[in-house]
Amino acid sequence: MNKDTQPIGFDVLFNPALNKGTAFTEEERDKYKLRGLLPPRVTDPDVQLHRALENMRRKYYDIERYIFLSALQSRNERLYYRAIMEHIEEIMPLIYTPTVGQACKEFAAIFRQPKGIYITAEDRGNVRSILANWLEQDVRVIVVTDGERILGLGDLGANGMGIPIGKLALYVACAGIHPHQCLPIMLDVGTNNEELLNDPLYLGINQHRLTGDEYDSLIDEFIQAAQDAYPKALIQFEDFLTPNAYRLLNKYRDQILCFNDDIQGTAAVALAGVYASIRISDLNFSGLRIMFLGAGSAATGIADLITYALQQEGLSAAEARQRLWFVDIAGLVVKNRNDLMQHNLPYAHDHPPADFITAIKQLKPHILIGATGFPGTFTQEVVELMAEINDRPALFALSNPTSRAECTAQQAYEWTNGQAIFTSGSPFAEVVLKGKTFKPGQGNNVYIFPGIGLGSIMSGASRISEDMFLVAAQKLASLVSEERLSEGAIYPPISDIRSVSLDIATAVAEKSVEQNLACLPESIDLKQAIANYMYDPRY
Ligand code: NAD
Repeated sequence: MNKDTQPIGFDVLFNPALNKGTAFTEEERDKYKLRGLLPPRVTDPDVQLHRALENMRRKYYDIERYIFLSALQSRNERLYYRAIMEHIEEIMPLIYTPTVGQACKEFAAIFRQPKGIYITAEDRGNVRSILANWLEQDVRVIVVTDGERILGLGDLGANGMGIPIGKLALYVACAGIHPHQCLPIMLDVGTNNEELLNDPLYLGINQHRLTGDEYDSLIDEFIQAAQDAYPKALIQFEDFLTPNAYRLLNKYRDQILCFNDDIQGTAAVALAGVYASIRISDLNFSGLRIMFLGAGSAATGIADLITYALQQEGLSAAEARQRLWFVDIAGLVVKNRNDLMQHNLPYAHDHPPADFITAIKQLKPHILIGATGFPGTFTQEVVELMAEINDRPALFALSNPTSRAECTAQQAYEWTNGQAIFTSGSPFAEVVLKGKTFKPGQGNNVYIFPGIGLGSIMSGASRISEDMFLVAAQKLASLVSEERLSEGAIYPPISDIRSVSLDIATAVAEKSVEQNLACLPESIDLKQAIANYMYDPRY
């Protein structure tokens, strides 16, 4: 297609951003020389959407629905995003977790069309020229992974590309980032997954992972090249192995516009849950005692942001941490244990060793946050004990997928006689108990990262500060209606995600202005400007 001339004919039909398929009007069929290239009847866009949804629903397995939707994205982008936006509850689990996990595992088998850029271990020294092959100039959001810790599935190498693709589809659908401004990137540094290396269908490079200086220099070259090519782009690190995730975040967070969703997005969505839960329990934030079951990266990231939030209320870091307790597989995290990891040390308090139950009895937490990956650890005894100590015990069973939750929604409500404030990492259906319906909300990162991304790029922020995550969490908690709270939900309905993202983006952008991190004309109505920008897929 010649760039200077208006595309016509198949150049229109095979361009997913321009294609409307059978919905092209009579006038458009003349204008773009489509006569004869399409079935003659013009389809109403609503009917076209209905047809696409019916086709999708007819598939037997969710992975087939994923493949169908992926093909739709490659064929007719606007129809794809309209389908997601208008049916977000149905489609999000198909384009993201849990289906995307299977899609990554089967990436090579279901691969049809490339989406995004692959930079490999062999490309050191040439990353700039590879980025130059991407024809879009105005990239604003990059999601990048090296595929080493894909969801709970471990090292999937280049198959992990499904994650940046899925995350960016959510950026578009949930926050209205324009599709052409999104760039999924796979840093294929190899894989240590022998099964993949021995699989002739595997599409990544056939070598073990780069490590040490070689790994760091490739990442560094990528960051520099991306900065040069797309100076306004936000870089989101996704599904890196925890030590790399922390190391890269700490290295780049004060240099470039970037964040890590696994660490910071998770923390903000959990903190929002804490804020919303005290709207129900009527407790004071700075007086809360919170106990974590599991002392890994998710729980520690949450605790770090809560510490920061408590510091903003006037507590010292030490005072803040004193309110946060961890229990891991070996019991209460206390000072005299000699098996603790570096990230546990700030939360290892002066206290005798104790098992989980004893720790709850002694420390009387208001909120239990489970991030163990180990199902059933909020036992009946634990939950009943929490209800003895608290009028409204808050139970966050964050482990994914649903089968790994620390307890189910049904158990939480049943064992507390309906008093529990429950949320989970994966969705649970409504629970009816003694005639009352409870609608447990899901602590999904999708409430946070699209708004963080939208707010930061719209304000021209140079960095993403901890305060931007803090205001995102506060704003999210404030958006839960009284009616939702009375039903036990501590997050807004996912169907409100566009307006939630707009509000969070506005708060994030305002914070970046306040912190002199923004680059904006003086007098601008931020909310209006952001709303005006947001992508609308309707024809
Ligand atoms: P991790 O491996 O870093 O940490 C797991 C921790 O749990 C370790 O400290 C381990 O000692 C502890 N643990 C394991 N079994 C235990 C048991 N029976 N009793 C007490 N402690 C136990 O894992 P992570 O990255 O922190 O993730 C943990 C879970 O959190 C995962 O299931 C993940 O899906 C979930 N998660 C949820 C969200 C969300 O809801 N938005 C976000 C991120 C992670």
